Amino acid sequence: MPTDASTQQSCSHCGDCARACPEALDPEVLFLALVKDDFGVTQSARLDACSQCNRCVEVCPSHIPLLDWFRWGKSKLREHERAADARKRFLARNARLARERELRAMRRGTPWPTALPMQTISRSEVLAAIARGKARRREQRP
Ligand code: SF4
Ligand code: SF4
Repeated sequence: MPTDASTQQSCSHCGDCARACPEALDPEVLFLALVKDDFGVTQSARLDACSQCNRCVEVCPSHIPLLDWFRWGKSKLREHERAADARKRFLARNARLARERELRAMRRGTPWPTALPMQTISRSEVLAAIARGKARRREQRP
């Protein structure tokens, strides 16, 4: 979508679009946020609730292609959400690998590693987990 200043200035702030919106959204706010690539505001202004009914476009005296902007914005929001999910999965995987490395080091009896990229549980928690595992195995012995 174009993001030049003239696009932004074409809005006369008349408020007709907000009055016409059946979802009680403020299309002007959504539009201006999308022009500025401000996806935080786009999310808080509930772009995802837009039903794409086109009523805001029909009443806009400046003939701004609001619906095109909203469709584009929704696809961008999905991209952002996918990226955030991927980042969460990446961090969770890093934390799991770090925990596994710590446990392996403890079992080998090697010195406690100090330069782990992410240390998410403490040494005492690991020792307690190992002790619990040993106790369980002792109980299971015939
Ligand atoms: S297209 Fe979306 S923002 Fe525009 S009036 Fe319909 S629901 Fe509201
Ligand atoms: S109807 Fe059009 S000109 Fe009026 S506030 Fe909404 S986007 Fe801006």
